Amino acid sequence: MKIILANPRGFCAGVNMAIHTVDEALKIVGAPLYVYHEIVHNRHVVNDFVKKGVIFVDSIDEVPGNQTVIFSAHGVSPTVRNAAKARGCTLIDATCPLVTKVHMEAIRYARQGYNILLVGHAGHDEVVGTVGEAPNAIVIVESPEDVQKLSFTDKDKLAYLTQTTLSLDDANVIINAIRERYPHVKEPPSSDICYATTNRQQAVRDIAPEADVVLVVGSRNSSNSIRLTEISQNTGSPAYLVDDKSEIDHSWLKDAKTVLVTAGASAPEHLVQEILDELIATYSGSVEERHIINEDEHFELPLSLRVLRDGGAVKSR
Ligand code: SF4
Repeated sequence: MKIILANPRGFCAGVNMAIHTVDEALKIVGAPLYVYHEIVHNRHVVNDFVKKGVIFVDSIDEVPGNQTVIFSAHGVSPTVRNAAKARGCTLIDATCPLVTKVHMEAIRYARQGYNILLVGHAGHDEVVGTVGEAPNAIVIVESPEDVQKLSFTDKDKLAYLTQTTLSLDDANVIINAIRERYPHVKEPPSSDICYATTNRQQAVRDIAPEADVVLVVGSRNSSNSIRLTEISQNTGSPAYLVDDKSEIDHSWLKDAKTVLVTAGASAPEHLVQEILDELIATYSGSVEERHIINEDEHFELPLSLRVLRDGGAVKSR
C-alpha cells in the first residue's frame, strides 16, 4: 500500500495555543481547573485533560465562585464572559485570535448600523459566541436557500462574515448567493475562513484524486475535520472520519492501493502516527509525506495567562 501523508495537517496555531494555555494553567493554578466548552473539538485532547483534573462545563453556573475558568479556542459571547466575572472567576481567554478577529468585525459592523449575515453552522460554539457579540444585528445563513428567505432590501445596510472553519467551496456558493441578491453587501476586509482551514482543505483537494481511500483523523464535532472529509468525497475519493486507529474499518481498505491520511486542526499528531503504524503493520508499504503549503503561524499565550504566570493579578476585560 502507498500511503500519502498530507502536509499541512493536524494542529493549527490556535489549537496549539489553546492546549498550551490549559497545560500552563494547570501548572500555575492546579486542579480542578474549569474550561468552558471543549478546549478544542477533539475527544482525545479533552479526555487527556479530564484525567489531569480539568472540568469541562457547558454553563458558567457549573463553575464555583472565584475559580479560574478558561474560554475555549472557539470563543464565547459577552454574556458568558460577564457571567464568569459576576461569579468572581479569574478569566483566561484562549479564544483563537482569528476567531476574535471575526468578533471584532461583528462588533464594528453592528456599531455602524449594519445587519450582519453570518455564514456558518447554527449551534456551533464559534457561531454562538460570534452571534452573542451583536445578537440583534446578526442573522445566521447556512445555505443559499437561507439567502433567498431573507427580507432585507437594497436600502438596508448589509455586511457578511463567515465562521472560520467552513469549506471554502460551500462558503463561496452561499457568498455568491448573497452578492447576487444584495450586490451592495459589504465584504469582510479579508476572508474569515482561517489559514489553517484553507491550507488543510487545499492539500486534500490537491492530493485526494490520487487516493483510493482518504482517512481524516478528527472528532465528529470538529467542523474543519468534517469539511476535509466532505471535500475528499467531492473529489470522488471515499473518505472516512476516524477519531483514532480503533475506528478504522478494514473493509474500507481491502482494495486500496493508495491511501491519503490527513488530520483536522484539532487532531493530535500521535493519533496520525498510530494510524500510519497500523496501516504499515497490516498492509506493508511506504509513507510519502506530501508538502503542499508551508505554515509558520504561531500565536502567543493569552495575556491573562502570562500575567498569572508572572505572579500578577488578572484583570477581566
Ligand atoms: S482552525 Fe483556524 S480559527 Fe480555528 S483555532 Fe485553528 S487557526 Fe484558529
